[in-house]
Amino acid sequence: MKRNTTCAQEAFLEANRVIPGGVNSPVRAFTSVGTTPVFVSRGQGARVWDIDGNEYIDYIGSWGPLILGHAHPKVVESIQMEAIRGTSFGLSTQIETKMAVQICNSLPSVEMVRMVNSGTEAAMTAIRLARGYTKRQKIVKFQGNYHGHADALLIKSGSGVATLGLPDSPGVPDNVTMNTITIPYNSLESIQLAFERYGEQIAAVMVEPVAGNMGVVPPLPGFLQELREITAKYGSLLIFDEVMTGFRVSYQGAQGLYGIEPDLTCLGKVIGGGLPVGAYGGKREIMEQIAPVGPIYQAGTLSGNPLAMSAGYRTLRLLEEPGIYEELDRKTAKLAEGFMQNARRIGVPLKVNRVGSMLSPYFTEQDVVNYETAQRSNMHRFKKYHAAMLDLGILTAPTPYEVMFVSTAHSDEDIENTIEAHYQALNTIKKE
Ligand code: PMP
Repeated sequence: MKRNTTCAQEAFLEANRVIPGGVNSPVRAFTSVGTTPVFVSRGQGARVWDIDGNEYIDYIGSWGPLILGHAHPKVVESIQMEAIRGTSFGLSTQIETKMAVQICNSLPSVEMVRMVNSGTEAAMTAIRLARGYTKRQKIVKFQGNYHGHADALLIKSGSGVATLGLPDSPGVPDNVTMNTITIPYNSLESIQLAFERYGEQIAAVMVEPVAGNMGVVPPLPGFLQELREITAKYGSLLIFDEVMTGFRVSYQGAQGLYGIEPDLTCLGKVIGGGLPVGAYGGKREIMEQIAPVGPIYQAGTLSGNPLAMSAGYRTLRLLEEPGIYEELDRKTAKLAEGFMQNARRIGVPLKVNRVGSMLSPYFTEQDVVNYETAQRSNMHRFKKYHAAMLDLGILTAPTPYEVMFVSTAHSDEDIENTIEAHYQALNTIKKE
């Protein structure tokens, strides 16, 4: 049955009059699928209800933070308790130290950490810190990796391998992107070439250790190891952007999962428990270059905000309970297997990539290992599939380049219902 979108259409028109595109972040406009965006009224556990009264099993999970599902009672309680005492002071509170200790004790490479307000801020500052620390200008990033919208990181790759970047948006000056080298993900050859050509000038390599912004693309064996070795050899820093993977793919992040220690780590999403948070951390020697200890400046009126700290801290404590990540893994594997089985039964080409509770179905026959292969996913099929899933009460990202997130709130029944809906959605594609 088609979902009712009467109220959402009206709300979207109204929003468009006063908010560019009607949204505060582009993906919410559902532009790439061309359907009416979901206007949420509330969420609970694995479910979201929209303002037309449609109910969905939600796999967006606020784009990653909600690993415990919506409105987890203990997280909500922490926020309430904290709010009664005041919402912001711009002064030190002990919960900030508790949070920092929790992060430092969890991530193998992090000895000190600074809280900020978004993943963008974390990545932007990590780059400034790497440049200040190494006294070099150039950075390396990978095609299809997203690190937020700071100028130096908003880059389209130049043509050819290891060329300098071009701005990905008007308003980003060429002389900023000139110092960003963009290369294909998972390509050892390109990384070696980039270092041969620019090695002495490279301040840092920034990487999503599991890519999650071109769908899920796991690192191929040896890729992260090579990044670790080559950066160490040339005196460049290795920065893991674990904004999405931190406390998501394992409690120790991707660095724990793959056993590689970066020099700096960016965090966000899960560590805020659904409130606006980011963080960057790493080796003491590097982190002590940040003001007020060192000369590299970074600050924030709302950084370490008590509500955000208490929501995040409570989330991290709840995630320490035994078996959580195993359960997430089991449920997401079941989803992936169900999707593959459906595709085989119906005869629609499909590849499913998965790491822990991050999953992406691509409408292609080829393995997806980088941005180029991710782009081969059939967009026409994806649109049909996405619309059918929404009508069947399954909320997934309105683009094949964002991943599905499974939370502890998704039950086995939710997973089974999702597999069944997926079967029906693939059937609608097939019938064309
Ligand atoms: N890095 C990664 C890996 C991300 O996935 C994102 C957001 N999707 C960001 C950085 C930017 O974070 P934010 O949206 O909080 O600025």
